[in-house]
Amino acid sequence: MTRRRFVIVGGGVAGASAASTLRREGFDGEVLLVGDEPHLPYERPPLSKEWLAGTAPSPAVYPEQWYADNAVEPLTGTRVAGLDVTARRITLGDGRTVGYDAVLIATGGQARRIPGLSDVDAERVHHLRTRADSDALRARLRPGRRLVVLGGGFVGCEVAATARTLGVEVTILEMAAAPLERALGTELGGVFARIHRAAGVELRCGERVESVARNGDGLVVHTDRGTLECSTLLVAAGLVRDTEVWAAAGVPCADGVLVDAGCRTDLPGVFAAGDVAAHEHPRYGRLRVEHHDSAVRQGAVAARNMLGAGVVFDDPHWFWSDQYEHTLQSYGGVGESGLDAVVVRGRPDEASFVRFGLRGGRVVSVLGLDRGPEVMAGRRLVQSGVPVAADQLRDESVELRRLVRRPARA
Ligand SMILES: Cc1cc2nc3c(=O)[nH]c(=O)nc-3n(C[C@H](O)[C@H](O)[C@H](O)COP(=O)(O)OP(=O)(O)OC[C@H]3O[C@@H](n4cnc5c(N)ncnc54)[C@H](O)[C@@H]3O)c2cc1C
Repeated sequence: MTRRRFVIVGGGVAGASAASTLRREGFDGEVLLVGDEPHLPYERPPLSKEWLAGTAPSPAVYPEQWYADNAVEPLTGTRVAGLDVTARRITLGDGRTVGYDAVLIATGGQARRIPGLSDVDAERVHHLRTRADSDALRARLRPGRRLVVLGGGFVGCEVAATARTLGVEVTILEMAAAPLERALGTELGGVFARIHRAAGVELRCGERVESVARNGDGLVVHTDRGTLECSTLLVAAGLVRDTEVWAAAGVPCADGVLVDAGCRTDLPGVFAAGDVAAHEHPRYGRLRVEHHDSAVRQGAVAARNMLGAGVVFDDPHWFWSDQYEHTLQSYGGVGESGLDAVVVRGRPDEASFVRFGLRGGRVVSVLGLDRGPEVMAGRRLVQSGVPVAADQLRDESVELRRLVRRPARA
């Protein structure tokens, strides 16, 4: 009998998580992990934070030896250029084909490029998705120079924070009324606006970049409100999914590769996980998220289902963002709708609070700024589903972890 071969396409955390889960679950066939970057799988969150600042150790998920110890064959620097779902084989960039019994698409995405801006000057206009991107950007972050960040989303805000700590002058240009507005809403976006301004960032909201041009050693950025000069521009305009190859092979794709709650496409033996996967969440319906923790968990679910386990990814989504000395954490808020009440504990205007979303007298989401232990307690409240009273959540003298065990007063 020939050994089964599972192919994982994409060397990010979803792919790495799938590979390790396969071995942990006792899979004794071949595991091939194909990634187009020159590195073994690594974590992206440090790329806008400690790695960008030059203070982090290697962001590798596993050391090189792990791959030999676990008989996982990494094929780095190799792009998968084709998929034949009938013959069950992939085609590599150099034309070689490799057969599979099951394949996992864990290809994440690429930083969005804006035609006419992104391509003006390769040295001065930057994007951030890969280690190489982070290294190139770090080389431009010199004290006293100006960095303009186009886009006040998480990546843009995190880079702005890191750059300020390195003494760089920073301007954020954001089209919306506040940074992080799409993810957090205008009010919480306003909290981050104050944090950035207090740190010396020039934050310009409601302003659209129209063009960029070379200007001596630097760049001149033209917006609908005026012009500004800088040495470097970071285009932080979100993620574009890599679905062309899969759609051409007949894999259903819309905003990503369409999968069910078990990370299965509707084609036999074809799975998807992580940022590329538009998954059917049992609680929130179809959505696609770009969060580290979900990628890790989905990779594990996909791996177990490649082995026929029949499990689902039904965790509430968890993410965090570090900016300066502040940490934002969120659990269960992504995709959640139809709340009965929102309860705030602490002071958003002092950048220290927890916000709970309630439905039917139970906490269904928690989001906190610099309130790690309370967010963790809130997370346990979401998981336990115990009834809680809003006034107890609001009351800072009530220890939240006690509510997990003790239901609310009648
Ligand atoms: C700068 C930055 C900071 C972040 N910070 C946070 C944070 O603080 N908190 C948080 O929750 N999340 C954060 N994220 C998001 C998190 O990193 C992602 O959700 C996570 O990396 C997704 O993992 P993935 O394995 O699905 O995809 P990726 O990490 O994108 O990995 C996919 C890999 O597949 C490769 N690939 C693509 N196509 C092919 C192909 N055809 N053949 C072979 N290989 C291919 C890609 O090059 C890539 O290496 C951050 C992301 C970035 C970019």
